[in-house]
Formats: sequence, C-alpha cells, structure tokens
Amino acid sequence: MGAEVRESDGEYRNAVRLEVEALAEGLTRVLFGDYDAVLAARTADPLFGNLAMLGNVVINSARNALREQARLAVAERARALEFYVERERLQALLDATDDGVVFLDVAGRVRSCSEAFLRLSGLTRAQLDDCDAAELAARLETLRPDPPDTFRRALLPADPGSAGQLVLGCTLHWPQRTEIRVLSVRLGGAAGAEHGRAVSIRDVTLIEDSRRFREELIGNVAHDLRTPLTSMLGFLELLANDALGPLLDAQRPAIEVALRNTRRMSTLLNDLLDVDRIRSGVARAVRVDLARVVGEAVDTQRAAAAAKGLDLRCESPATLPVDSDAQLVAQIVINLVSNAVKFTDRGTVVVRVVAGDPIVVIEVEDSGIGIPEVATARIFERYYRSDEPARREPRGAGVGLSIVQRFVDMLGGHVDVRSELGRGSRFRVTLPRHRAR
Ligand code: ADP
Repeated sequence: MGAEVRESDGEYRNAVRLEVEALAEGLTRVLFGDYDAVLAARTADPLFGNLAMLGNVVINSARNALREQARLAVAERARALEFYVERERLQALLDATDDGVVFLDVAGRVRSCSEAFLRLSGLTRAQLDDCDAAELAARLETLRPDPPDTFRRALLPADPGSAGQLVLGCTLHWPQRTEIRVLSVRLGGAAGAEHGRAVSIRDVTLIEDSRRFREELIGNVAHDLRTPLTSMLGFLELLANDALGPLLDAQRPAIEVALRNTRRMSTLLNDLLDVDRIRSGVARAVRVDLARVVGEAVDTQRAAAAAKGLDLRCESPATLPVDSDAQLVAQIVINLVSNAVKFTDRGTVVVRVVAGDPIVVIEVEDSGIGIPEVATARIFERYYRSDEPARREPRGAGVGLSIVQRFVDMLGGHVDVRSELGRGSRFRVTLPRHRAR
C-alpha cells in the first residue's frame, strides 16, 4: 500500500502532513489535560498506524499514573484531615480535664500542654515554648514541692528505659498548699519506637482532705465508743457469770447474745483503732522479752479457745531478748491467734516461738477450715474476707491480717501463710532480732 502512496512525491508529502497534523492535534488535547484523547492514523499506512497505537499506550499509562496520584493525594488529604480532627479532639479533651498534662518529645522538649497545666504550674505558653525537661523541672520547683525532687524524677527519670510509668505523691507549698499526684508515662517504646513522655499533675487536695477527715472521724468515734463499750462489756460479763445475782433461765440466752455481740463490737472497734494507729505509728526498737510478749498475747485468747474446746498451746524458749516493739508484736500475735481460734472448730492451735539470729520466728498453726488457694494471695489486703458459704464464723471487719502485714512491715519483718482447705493454716512471721541502726 505504501508503494501506492508513494506514487507521487506530492501526494506522499500531503499524506504525511495529514498524519502529523492528526498526531499533533491529539497530543495537544493531551497537553491540555484531556487524557481521553485517542490518536488515530488518517491513512492506511501501517507506519502511522503503529505510531498512533504507541502514542495511545503512552497516553493511557500517563492517565493511569495521574489517576493513581490523584487518588493518593485525596487519601493523604483525608488522613491529614483525620489527624487534624483527632488532634483537635485530644486538645479539647485535654483542655476540658482538670489534670495538668504536658507532652515532651524524645529530646525532652515540651511539645504541648493542657490549659490546666498552665493553671497549676503558673507558667505561660510562651515560657514553655521549646523549654526542655531540665528547665521545666527547675521552673516547677518554684512551687516548692515536697519531696523537692518530685518534678525532676517525673520529667527526667533516672533510668528512662525502666521507668515506663511512675506515680509520685507530692505537696506543693506555693501559692497555697496543694496535694498533687504526678503521673509520668513513657510514650511508645516496647513494641514501637519511643516518642517522648507525658507527665500529668492531678490536684488531689480535696480527696486527700476528705480521706484525712474520714480517718480522723473514724479514729475519734472508735476512741469515744470504747469507754462506754468497755463498761457495757464489764457489766454483761458480771451478769453472765451470775455475779450480780442468779439469772432467770429466760434471761440467760438474751444476756449471752448481748455479751457475744458486745465482744464482737469491741473487736471491731479495736481493729479500727489499730488502723488509726498504723497511720501515725512508728515502730520502737527496745530490748523486750519476746517469749513473755508472745505468751501474754496468747493468754488473752485462752478464754475464747476454751469456749470452743480447743487446745491452745504455746511452745517457746523461757526467754528470748530481741530489739522490737512489744505492743506491735503482741497485736500481731493476738490477731493471728484470734483468727486461728475463730476459724477452727476442733483440734489445736499452736503458737511457736523459734529463737534465731539474725531472725526470730513466730508461727501460729491451727487445725481449722483452711483458706482457699485463690484467697491466700489476698487475705493480707485491707477489708478482704473470704466469703464462701462454708464459713459460718461471725464476719469481722476484714482488717486483722492487713494490720498484721503492716505491723510486720513496720518491724522490718516478713509474714506468709501456708494452708490446706479442711486441714488448717500456718502463719509464719519472721522478725529481725536486732533492729538496724
Ligand atoms: P477478719 O476480720 O474477717 O477476720 P482478717 O483480715 O483477720 O479479717 O482475715 C481475712 C480473712 O482471712 C478472713 O475473713 C478469713 O476468711 C481468712 N482467714 C484468716 N485467718 C484464717 C485462719 N486461721 N483460718 C482460715 N481462714 C482465715
């Protein structure tokens, strides 16, 4: 066919011009953004046919690339918008909370903070701008924190790697007394890259004041109730023992119920007073005879053990001098032995004092109902009681063992329990024989 076109040079040049014009027109449309333009040869010359086909392939891939780029740009914009909205939401949330929150980047520079942080710290955004952790800690020290190194510890943890999260309590003394709780959290790390630290300051003055008020109230009420209760207990005991004349048969059960419940109330009050004592208590370390202290504490429980027909034994050396706090040790033994008596229906309760150096051991073992394994980890918590139906014993306040734990801690010792359901329990207290000076 090419041979026919080339019959005359004039005709051929004409045909070429036509083709070039057609190509130029198509390419111009593309140039102006019309990627739907299709190139077509005007003549039947395969050379131009192929050229148009190649041109269409190029236009097609350019169109696809542009569309993909546009799709990516839209997705990117949507992500940026989402990020912006999320940031706005977080900022709104931050500004709405009463917690003072500040974010530091990995280099320890302040990136952003909540309104409450400005309020609590008394600093301005300009002062915080690009401030680093050390500068910020120094600025916050003007609030006269106690302990004084609180902000330094929260903003510049000594071992940033291990201090994933840190909670510190502190009192600020300027411009007025404010109780705060400082939480310092490492951001990222572990699975992903670390990207800084968030530190929040919560004003807990009201909570702390009301806790203190509640505790003082409980302490005072328990104290004030003890005197009338002791007198009631004394008279009920006299009545029950016929010391004020013989009781009528109809009266005896009523007096016994009253006596039992008054004793129970007295135990609850004593527990509450112990809680009160713990708060302010500091253990003494004076030379005491542990054998005598334990023996006397065990004696206070003999009547209760005898009433249940239990064999209460105390195995101890004749004397055992230790440096300790007799009152705390006695209370530990009383709480453990009274529990042992309470939770044992038949058999024995044995108290052992084992001399050693540098530690001495006091064991209280019973043949009672035992403690379920799930409960053994929790019985030293305050207000914890194991509540299965098999336990028919009167409910206590659930503080006896938490007091034991606290007193043992105050004495620098250790307490643990081994128990088997239905066979009994053994509480083991180890105490230092000499107090560290
Ligand atoms: P509570 O005032 O209830 O006795 P405690 O703190 O003294 O509080 O004890 C917590 C719980 O531990 C008790 O409710 C009881 O379930 C369990 N417990 C303590 N001592 C014994 C024991 N010797 N035998 C069985 N259970 C015990």
